[in-house]
Amino acid sequence: VRTNRPGLLDGLDPEQRAAAVAPRGPVCVLAGAGTGKTRTITHRIAHLIRSGHVAPGQVLAVTFTTRAAGEMRTRLRALGVEGAQALTFHAAARRQLRYFWPRVIGDRPWDLLEGKLRLVGQAANKVGLGTEAEILRDLASEIEWAKASLISPDDYPATAARVQRDSPAAPEKVAEVYRAYEKLKNSAQVVDFDDLLLHTTAALEEHGEVAREFRERYRCFIVDEYQDVTPLQQRLLDAWLGGRDDLTVVGDANQTIYSFGGASPRPLLEFTRRFPEATVVRLERDYRSTPQVVELANKVIGAARNRPTGSRLRLVAQRPAGAEPRFAEFEDEPTEAAAVAARIRALLDGGVAASEIAILYRINAQSEVYEQALAEAGVPYLVRGGERFFDRREIRQAMVALRTAAADPPPTELVTAVRSVLSRAGLTEQPPSGGAAKERWDALLSLVEVAEELAATVEGADLPRYVAELEQRAAAQHPPTVEGVTLASLHAAKGLEWEAVFLVGLAEGTMPILHADGDGDAIEEERRLFYVGVTRAREHLWLSWSLSRHAGGKRHRRRSRFMYGLLPEHHPAARVPRSQSGRSGPKPRCRVCGGPLLETMEIKLGRCGRCPSNVDEELLARLKDWRITRAKELKVPPFVVFTDATLIAI
Ligand code: ATP
Ligand code: MG
Repeated sequence: VRTNRPGLLDGLDPEQRAAAVAPRGPVCVLAGAGTGKTRTITHRIAHLIRSGHVAPGQVLAVTFTTRAAGEMRTRLRALGVEGAQALTFHAAARRQLRYFWPRVIGDRPWDLLEGKLRLVGQAANKVGLGTEAEILRDLASEIEWAKASLISPDDYPATAARVQRDSPAAPEKVAEVYRAYEKLKNSAQVVDFDDLLLHTTAALEEHGEVAREFRERYRCFIVDEYQDVTPLQQRLLDAWLGGRDDLTVVGDANQTIYSFGGASPRPLLEFTRRFPEATVVRLERDYRSTPQVVELANKVIGAARNRPTGSRLRLVAQRPAGAEPRFAEFEDEPTEAAAVAARIRALLDGGVAASEIAILYRINAQSEVYEQALAEAGVPYLVRGGERFFDRREIRQAMVALRTAAADPPPTELVTAVRSVLSRAGLTEQPPSGGAAKERWDALLSLVEVAEELAATVEGADLPRYVAELEQRAAAQHPPTVEGVTLASLHAAKGLEWEAVFLVGLAEGTMPILHADGDGDAIEEERRLFYVGVTRAREHLWLSWSLSRHAGGKRHRRRSRFMYGLLPEHHPAARVPRSQSGRSGPKPRCRVCGGPLLETMEIKLGRCGRCPSNVDEELLARLKDWRITRAKELKVPPFVVFTDATLIAI
């Protein structure tokens, strides 16, 4: 056994250390937000590897969101760990399935289903149900719930009745849609996300030699955020283990936020019943947030009802005192967004890095008004952070074309070569006017930006070098990201932290979400989601809401019920009069194409620079100059807007 490099365990407190150095076998860490659970497991992995107990390739660490998996990889890398896998359940299953597919199904692996709602629509149509977008979305998530809960179409009606499920249609009808959807999907030879887990589980359960090979390879399993495991994920985990017990789980039952999708904290809370010999560690020191934020978090979760035993932990703050959390009420959403953008500007001017700031909201549709406000304030931002960039179809196709070209590289200074290959792959001279085509165009454009970056930093960089760079980024799951303020839903923010967090839209109907009203369990899940949001902040926490959605609209909304008991008594709720907001009245529009004007400079010029049929090179050049100057001021790269996994050149 090799000795430990000194220092690895110095950064852990005694309880964290006990979990990190526990011998291989079952380990369970039950603790609140910010107490160092993720830190403990990454150190445990590093410790097991360094002390020679396990080889890096034998470790499989899983979590639930792409971002959280990315965070785990970053932390492992920082500890010098290479070669241990840290993935989402889905990414792990997808990889394994691709590898085992020829043996268990035979053919080329089936593609991932694109356009799920369309297929659900066909299924609903067959069954004679309505095909309005909202109904299809409800049906799709009901099918997802059933699959994640291991409920077949045949079992659906009885189970839905037993668990008093609020089905989107008569349970028999839902079962029929579910059945038809599966059939359509199989005949199209595609798989959906849940199938990745189902097929992998089946491969391991039914093919002895596949299971043997897998278990020979992976020996040490770690699950972060275990409170959100679904029955399907648990079954896959059991198939991975195959009766072994080298499993470390960490979680916080108070952060269960996916129970609407079938997740349950029960496996976490009952871990010791399953593994009586498990090492169990409880942590309560909060290392993430200021005492002010911790106090607020304790209040939020202290008000929760029906907390299961084992989840009653109180966070004890460790960090020095900081600013009080701020509460603010606004007339309308654009005013709220403008005020948030102004605060962010002030933070940036005060030296806080853009990547240390996040705006978190309940539903993705809320992002738009913030994107606009940030763009107007000249603040770079990224939305939901570029996950699965290299899995996008147009990027996969572009990679094939680039690889082919790199085999016989043309003699042109790199960027031209890349542009010419990509123009054949769909990168037209001018962007399409909007929608999915524009998103694809933007994604391709970001590949050009990587080339520009490489050409500027590596002397003599050529096409093969560029392709190698992209491949390296793809392997490391490092999409071409750039710095910016994060815009994310509360669900996507799980496990992450920022120096400054803005929790926005804290009004009834949004937080808690409208359809949770009147449903006690759903309201409690919303409260946990709010707790997740509050506990993301290290230093600054702003909580805001507005009384109307639209500028000048009726003020018919109320602040969230979760604010009661949090706001200091007689809090004036910092009302900002509309006249000071600087953002009211109609949205500024381009006088040529009528599209929205996004940046201060665009508004000043009255032109957007993206007019589909009227290209004005001079205007583009002016905008570009302005962006570069602005980016320099902000100390960020000039092309920085992300929307849904896509880079956009602003
Ligand atoms: P969450 O429930 O939100 O996922 P967590 O329990 O996983 O939180 P971590 O993200 O691991 O918490 O840790 C929170 C912060 O506290 C991180 O910045 C981490 O580096 C820091 N931290 C954790 N433990 C210690 C420690 N012993 N000393 C100093 N800092 C620590
Ligand atoms: Mg964590």
